[in-house]
Formats: sequence, structure tokens, C-alpha cells
Amino acid sequence: MALAFDEFGRPFIILREQDQKTRLRGIDAQKANIAAGKAVARILRSSLGPKGMDKMLQGPDGDVTITNDGATILEQMDVDNQIAKLMVELSRSQDYEIGDGTTGVVVMAGALLEQAERQLDRGIHPIRIAEGYEMASRVAVEHLERISQKFEFDVNNYEPLVQTCMTTLSSKIVNRCKRRLAEIAVKAVLAVADLERRDVNLDLIKVEGKVGGNLEDTELIYGILVDKDMSHPQMPKQIEDAHIAILTCPFEPPKPKTKHKVDIDTVQKFETLRKQEQQYFDEMVQKCKDVGATLVICQWGFDDEANHLLMHRNLPAVRWVGGVELELIAIATGGRIVPRFQELTPEKLGKAGMVREKSFGTTKERMLYIEHCANSKAVTIFIRGGNKMMIEETKRSIHDALCVARNLIRNKSIVYGGGAAEIACSLAVDAAADKYPGVEQYAIRAFAEALDSVPMALAENSGLQPIETLSAVKSQQLKENIPFYGIDCNDVGTNDMREQNVFETLIGKQQQILLATQVVKMILKIDDVISNSEY
Ligand code: ADP
Repeated sequence: MALAFDEFGRPFIILREQDQKTRLRGIDAQKANIAAGKAVARILRSSLGPKGMDKMLQGPDGDVTITNDGATILEQMDVDNQIAKLMVELSRSQDYEIGDGTTGVVVMAGALLEQAERQLDRGIHPIRIAEGYEMASRVAVEHLERISQKFEFDVNNYEPLVQTCMTTLSSKIVNRCKRRLAEIAVKAVLAVADLERRDVNLDLIKVEGKVGGNLEDTELIYGILVDKDMSHPQMPKQIEDAHIAILTCPFEPPKPKTKHKVDIDTVQKFETLRKQEQQYFDEMVQKCKDVGATLVICQWGFDDEANHLLMHRNLPAVRWVGGVELELIAIATGGRIVPRFQELTPEKLGKAGMVREKSFGTTKERMLYIEHCANSKAVTIFIRGGNKMMIEETKRSIHDALCVARNLIRNKSIVYGGGAAEIACSLAVDAAADKYPGVEQYAIRAFAEALDSVPMALAENSGLQPIETLSAVKSQQLKENIPFYGIDCNDVGTNDMREQNVFETLIGKQQQILLATQVVKMILKIDDVISNSEY
């Protein structure tokens, strides 16, 4: 720190901090940023596709995650570099908007950066590259629309939806069970979908998991599953035509809020107090019975004595149910959450055809199934699996499949996967490049080449010769003018993705191209990086 004076003699302080800053300008800044972006994309590249590798990530507290979901890998990677963070953000936006294609979008962005670096070396100005990319992305997105196909499905014929979900699941760890999981995801989405308004509220689908059993035991429950049991072992395990009181008030005498003093100096006084408490509780139970409740679900607990009384009065109860679950139960059963006992009325009770307690394995694990609800629009996917990691990964995969099914209900168009759509776009963009007279032409061609990197990565990850495979497929597409040929990752024997039933949603693919272009343009436009040298 130093003291100095300006031309009017006023003192000011010069902070030494300025010295600690490093600064990258111009082409150096772009090169450094591109290198950072590429580094992130390289990590994800090997995870792309049905034969992609999985990553094992260890969290700060030692917990281990095994996954090949792009968004999850990046989320947990804890990157420090700002550009790398942009790539994480990119994957997250794809996850947020579409739910699937999170690896692909980063691989695409990485390839665009790599190509941009080559153009920079040729002396093309970054702005020209950015503009060329913008034009090329427009051509690609329009071309996707042109080659997309609509397929028809309805509640009775949902096979096409299942096939598309299976494509998503085939590149996940859970792919041995993809048919079953895809069917479950589609049935769940159709159960909550509003097909007329083409809207799906995924909040109505609850995904629960419990360690034990097989992945194949995963089931769809038309109702709600709560990880709780009846508060007393002697309460009935099955209640038909249940009328449920959903309470957020404690099932106990009210505690004085301000300080009171109760002097108990005789046995009689103690007895009176006890009786009063008991009577109070008795009234509460009576109130529930009077309005016709046959089951009470509470957010709070109650003591053993109360529990005994509930059992005695034949009013089954469940305690310590979480707020989110209570809300879902209320939505599903058409009931209202009651915050005070005085407000309990018959209309506020939720109705369910069947509430049953089911036990698992030899352990004391029990869960409560609330089924045949008045408002059948809430469903639960109950995942079983050998260990916690498997369940967590299945949850992520199911999430992707649910998102794909939702996207298809919103927009019925699909394009073909396995890199087929990218190859078709690459050809279209390449052809369009010649029409542009300016320097952008080079950037547009570079964009076409970047599009090729997705099928190349798919081929590489499947143990195929990337360049040979790609050129063979590309020439096949060009010769027959058919955009369905892609990479035969699973060695089925045909490149025709129609035959292999490898579909992806049109909006998902379009979003990938748009988002990747946006981020790369942003990175290219940075020509000054000022940072603290400590980092
Ligand atoms: P993302 O997270 O981007 O969805 P994935 O690892 O799920 O990444 O890989 C998706 C890619 O794998 C897509 O390009 C898709 O077309 C391709 N793919 C999925 N299944 C197959 C298959 N059976 N054959 C060829 N390609 C496939």
C-alpha cells in the first residue's frame, strides 16, 4: 500500500492488490478459456453413449457416487475455473430445460471450442467465428425440424414412448432392466399427464427408493408410498375405504407458550393434571372419530400413552410424516391439510380406496401404501436395488426417462439417435457453407466438423474405428439421402437407427445445439481475463 497525491494535492491510496492480479488479453485469453472448456468436455466424452464409461466421484464426506449422467458428474466435480463453471452451467441448463442429453451438450460445446481454436490459429477474428457458428446453428436447427418425424401414440398405444425412453436408458448403468423401467416411466407420465393441454406435472410423480431386492422389483404404485409404518404394531395393517385426517398440529395437549408455573404439591393435584391431559387427548381422538376419520396421518409425534389410547380407540395413526409427503397425500386423496384440531371437518378428510402396510425382507422395514386415491393423479415409482449407489443412479436415470416422455407429450417430434441426426446436420451445414461469401464460411464448415464429433465419440467409446466408421456412415447417408443412419454402437448389425429403435426428442436435440453454440459464442467473445493470481 502506498500513499500518493493527485494533481490537486489530494491524497489517495494505491492498493498493492493490483500487483497480485494476473491478466490475460486478446488471443491468449481466448486460448486459455478454450483450453479450460475443452478439458471439461474431455472428461465427459468417454461417458457418451450406450457403451460410455461410468465415473466414480467421491464427495467431501467420503460418500461415493457412480454415474454416467453428465449433469451429475459436473455437479459433483467442484471445478474452480470460471470457464469450466460455464460448462457445468451448460449441462445444468440442458438438464433443467430438457432433462436428457446433458453429456451430449458438453461434448458438442467442447468440439466447437476445439474447432474455434483452429480457426483462431488461421487468423480468423473471434467475432467472425462466433457469427459463423450462429448462422450454422440456425441451419442445423432448421434441418433437424425438416428431418424430424412425428409419431402417434395414445393412452392405449404407448409403445413408441417406451422405445424412446429405452434409448435414453440404454446408455445408463441400469440398461439391463431398461424395458421395465421405460414402461414404468411412461405409465407414470401418462397417469399424471393432461393430454388435452399437453402438459405433464412431474411433481406428481414421486420417486422413492429402498435398499434391498432387485432392480427388477421396481414398481409403479398408483398412489403414494410413505416410508413410515403404523404407530402401534397392533393397529390394523390394512384399511379399506380410508377416510384420512391429515394433521400438521401435534396430537398432544397444547403446551403453554408463555411461562407458567404449575405447583403440584399433592398426589391429588398430580392425578387431576394427568386426568385432564388424558381427557384432552381423549377429546381429540373423539373429534377425529366424530368427523368420520378412519386413519390419522400426523406431521408430529405423540407419546406412548397417546399411542396406546389411539390403538385402544381403534383409530390407526401414522406419525412423523414429512411436509412434502403430507402435501402429496393431500393432493392425491383430495383432502386438506388441517393445522388445528378445531378446523377438522368431514369435507377435509382425504379418501383412499386402500391403505396398507407392507413389510420388506426379513428386516423390520415397513412402508405404507396409499392407493386408489380420490384424485388418482399422483403416482409413485418405488425403486429397489442392491445398494444405495444403485438406487441413486436409478433415480437419476428414471428422471431422464420421465423428462423424455414428458417432452414427447409436449412435442411429438423425434429425430434419430446414435449420431444420425448430427451427421445429417453436419452434411446440411457443410452444404450451406458454400453459400456464404464471407470469412464466416470457414467457421460454418468448422461447425459441421464439430457436429461430427458426437458420432465419433460414440464410435470411439464402442471400440470402433472412429474415422472409418463415421466416413462409412456419412457416405451412406449422402448416397441414399436418408438421415436414419447412425453408429451401430451395440453391434446389432445395422446402421439404420429406425430398425434399432434409437430415437431422441427433436426439442432435446435442438436445445443441445442452441445451448452449446450460445456458450461457445460467449467464451469466444471474452478477450480480457483479470483474476487474482492466487487462483
Ligand atoms: P446424454 O447424457 O447426453 O443423454 P448418454 O450417455 O445418455 O448422454 O448418450 C446419449 C447418446 O447415445 C445419444 O447420442 C444417443 O443417440 C446415443 N445412443 C443411445 N442408445 C444408443 C444405441 N442403442 N445405439 C446407438 N446410439 C445410442
